[in-house]
Amino acid sequence: MLLDLKHSRALHRQHQARKTPLLIFTASDVVGMADALRREFFPTVSISPEVIFTNGSFLGCISRTPPAPESLICLHDILNSPDVPEQVLRHILTHELIHLIVAPREVDGKVTTHPPEFWQLENDLCPERSWIWEWLWDNFHSCLLIDKKNECIKVKRDWRKRTHLQCRSLDEIISAAPRHQHPEGIGI
Ligand SMILES: [Zn+2]
Repeated sequence: MLLDLKHSRALHRQHQARKTPLLIFTASDVVGMADALRREFFPTVSISPEVIFTNGSFLGCISRTPPAPESLICLHDILNSPDVPEQVLRHILTHELIHLIVAPREVDGKVTTHPPEFWQLENDLCPERSWIWEWLWDNFHSCLLIDKKNECIKVKRDWRKRTHLQCRSLDEIISAAPRHQHPEGIGI
């Protein structure tokens, strides 16, 4: 019950944060990247998503109100830095775009937004996902919370005090074997 209350507060905070998009400081053009990904991997998605950075609750999320074709991807401000590798942003955008074509469904008596076909497609489109998560945990481990019940990764409110990029590049991570896998069943 307490967790549910916390989650509803997190949803409210995310909703509020959407109203004040932040200036973008990434080295990559995330809006162009999302459109390129849509055209390459998701041709049935007719309109490119809007992409904004917010100081909300979630590392990344996508919202859409059917039947409107428009969608909005919110990336957390913790990713809004020229030090965040392009591959990390691309992976999170791809994850969010998959939500547009893989519907939530019941698995083992529980409705999940990440059914097995979601993970299969993500694995097909992002074979480097374990390195991406290695980089994220390396740099933001003290800032991120896994909310398994609600299938999301939350960013702690005081993340600015905790974050200090370790500057281990993605190439360094790829050249070493990943230490751990992104836990199954956890979304972004
Ligand atoms: Zn997800």
